[in-house]
Amino acid sequence: MTNNDVPQGGFAEAGADLELVGISKRFPGFTAIEELDLTIPAGSFFALLGPSGCGKTTTLRLIAGLEEPTTGRIMIGGRDVTSTRAFQRPVNTVFQSYALFPHMSIIENVSFGLKRRGMKNAAPLAHEALRLVELDHVANRKPAQLSGGQQQRVALARAVVNRPALLLLDEPLGALDLKLRRQMQIELKDIQSEVGLTFLHVTHDQEEAMTMADTVAVMNKGRIEQMGNPQELYELPHTVFVANFLGQSNLFTGKVTSSGSDSIVVDVDGTKFEVPTDRAQRHRGLITVGVRPEKVTLHDSAPKQTAGRNVIGPGRVTDVSFSGVSTQYEITLPGHGALTVFSQNTSITSIHRDGDEVWLSWDVDHAFGLADDVETDPASRFPSDTDTSMIATQSRAKLKAELGKD
Ligand code: ATP
Repeated sequence: MTNNDVPQGGFAEAGADLELVGISKRFPGFTAIEELDLTIPAGSFFALLGPSGCGKTTTLRLIAGLEEPTTGRIMIGGRDVTSTRAFQRPVNTVFQSYALFPHMSIIENVSFGLKRRGMKNAAPLAHEALRLVELDHVANRKPAQLSGGQQQRVALARAVVNRPALLLLDEPLGALDLKLRRQMQIELKDIQSEVGLTFLHVTHDQEEAMTMADTVAVMNKGRIEQMGNPQELYELPHTVFVANFLGQSNLFTGKVTSSGSDSIVVDVDGTKFEVPTDRAQRHRGLITVGVRPEKVTLHDSAPKQTAGRNVIGPGRVTDVSFSGVSTQYEITLPGHGALTVFSQNTSITSIHRDGDEVWLSWDVDHAFGLADDVETDPASRFPSDTDTSMIATQSRAKLKAELGKD
């Protein structure tokens, strides 16, 4: 951006499209990005979501110009910036560590970029950016006199004031506690709609990505596995990784015994499950099918087999966790392993106890069929992904620690 591009007020101008074409990045002995093709439309809030080490930060560094791609092109607003140096790209980054200058006041921090580019009257724009994050009243304080959440908002104002065509957010809320993070998620989304810039947000926190982004790309081992709006991704995952990383899933592996235009039937150890044809990524052979825990209903006795519902049972309740608004059950089904069921607490009598015998059913329309190759080894009939279960354990421990702090 040149001095002439600096706006004279208002934050309503839209950002620019970002296009990554055939990007790969190889470090000595390691390929961090396999082959990435991605278009992010101007003015959207896009989240790149994935576990640690999947290549999110590398992607961000390539876009910012801090790394050079091994192959491919980077286009911003239709302009090829692959060989453009970092400081000449219309991009700003907000990091997890706020990186504010400690010896400068808040207003000096926010004006810094504008002044460095030779803008004489930077103060009005800097105050406008501070008003946007509701911190103009602390303009004369030093960073150390603000809370973590306030410093993060200043870092955001400092980036937005430069009106980059593209704002990169690298786990920007990671250092905040749970309550503040939730609040900042809403504020960030509001600010993005207000300023209309293109936001690319990188995170390993699925809830954060789903809460804020219009489009989420789930990244695994240097590739994008699936991309779409949060609801689409959640309701219709295409792979075991996405089904487990974005929320929880109950997965079964079986053989397709019939395949029609409306639905396919899968035999899972003698139990027949139906999946709508257009919700299955494969229609023959061995496949993995699944259903989300909140879509499953528990019954005290065997429900009637009716068209449009998958039924399985009997099983035993092996764990009950009551959380107020809902109860999470673990049900062990002989020959099928353990399933998770979330049940809304709509009636006190509906709570099942440890050891109860139960049947499970769900609407066929909620079932999904995944694209993964299925291993024929019977020991892997209940696909669990070690990466995602490790992440789930870490997230639970982190959440517990944070809730303990509150
Ligand atoms: P995190 O959430 O932990 O930051 P990430 O998804 O952002 O993870 P990256 O930082 O992009 O992951 O790293 C992707 C992979 O590339 C990792 O396995 C990492 O070890 C490797 N990597 C990153 N930078 C280098 C480098 N300079 N040299 C060699 N390998 C690297």
